[in-house]
Amino acid sequence: MSLIVMKFGGSSVGSTERMQRVAKRIIKTKEAGNRVVVVVSAMGDTTDDLIDQSKQLNPNPPAREMDMLLTTGEQISVALLSMTIHQLGSQAVSYTGWQAGIVTEAVHAKARISDIKPNRIFNSLDEGNIVIVAGFQGMTEEGEITTLGRGGSDTTAVALAAAINADVCEIFTDVDGVYSTDPRVVKCARKLDSISYDEMLELAHLGAAVLHPRAVEYAKHNNVKLVVRSSFNENEGTTVKEEAVMEQGVVVSGIAFDKNVARISILGVEDVPGVLAKVFGELADNGIDVDIIVQSGVQEGKADFSFTLSSSDSDRAIQVIEGIRSEVPFRETTSETNLVKVSIVGAGMVSNPGVAAKMFEAISKLGVSIKMVSTSEIKCSCVIAADLLNDVVRSLHTAYGLDTAEQVFVGGPQDRR
Ligand code: ASP
Ligand code: MG
Repeated sequence: MSLIVMKFGGSSVGSTERMQRVAKRIIKTKEAGNRVVVVVSAMGDTTDDLIDQSKQLNPNPPAREMDMLLTTGEQISVALLSMTIHQLGSQAVSYTGWQAGIVTEAVHAKARISDIKPNRIFNSLDEGNIVIVAGFQGMTEEGEITTLGRGGSDTTAVALAAAINADVCEIFTDVDGVYSTDPRVVKCARKLDSISYDEMLELAHLGAAVLHPRAVEYAKHNNVKLVVRSSFNENEGTTVKEEAVMEQGVVVSGIAFDKNVARISILGVEDVPGVLAKVFGELADNGIDVDIIVQSGVQEGKADFSFTLSSSDSDRAIQVIEGIRSEVPFRETTSETNLVKVSIVGAGMVSNPGVAAKMFEAISKLGVSIKMVSTSEIKCSCVIAADLLNDVVRSLHTAYGLDTAEQVFVGGPQDRR
């Protein structure tokens, strides 16, 4: 008998018919002799719809009230799923995040889980129930309702799996697993049988939407075995674990891209100690995440530097920098949007020379110029203009030998959260 956490994303429970299909699958897993804890997201586009609705009444709603609103989406799912399971003749009980003992920090909209008290879950399992927990939500020690950030149900599932010491945490979605790249861009993308936590973490951070990065981090730290698989078929899926067996000769496992990149340059900055600390400290204080930072040579005591960030933060970042002009004198700022970051990821890169060179070559053959580069032991990212992104991804996919003979059928929209 195994203890299994099964997580279903919004699209997997997006309609009555899908809800029934999921319920049957859960019951089958239970009847095979397992103890089952289920985590669900809000149905379909519920969370987005609630956000739209709130913005019509208040474009800038208090974060506390937003959490109050958004957590209702998952409450609907758990209740409906539990009822469906009862209707099919099995025993289930649904819990909100707080009823399930999920305690978070006192931060709205992006709280981290600080503790899980799983006694109630264990009691319900002992009574023979399928336990269904609302994803994406928790409660502070002071009794305030919080959410874990968009896509946070993955994190709920992994954190619960760690807390109850589950044998496996299965993440059900609408694709068959983790792919070498987005199958909507590359038709012959390959499904990976397994991938290491570190590779998955890079891919998730770099824009592969199949798993929430924080969930992968959590899984790595707690050594939770994750399986990403489809809720629409019985295919094996992709296992995310410590040491993925590397396929012979596979150096690059996946190609990810992020379409929301902007670059800001600050030109003619006085080259004195503390300048970078001031600029990036100020951006951080304003909650602006910065990605790649490049400083170019110093001339006549003045330096230029550039950094990338999410394009939605670009205007605000410029304002912040203009705001500290008196403390950090510079000549001008420029910004460029419509950029993308494309990255190759693979644990095999460390020990294989020439991997990055191959990337630069494939990109330059398409006549695309590389604006910025950043590397780590297991990834290499290039920032390029957005227009030829798909061609670049396809040619990298071929260059690293990732193409398969089969074409992946991509049905509906991917479960992006
Ligand atoms: N329903 C939430 C969202 O759409 C959480 C999740 O789906 O994981 O972001
Ligand atoms: Mg969702």
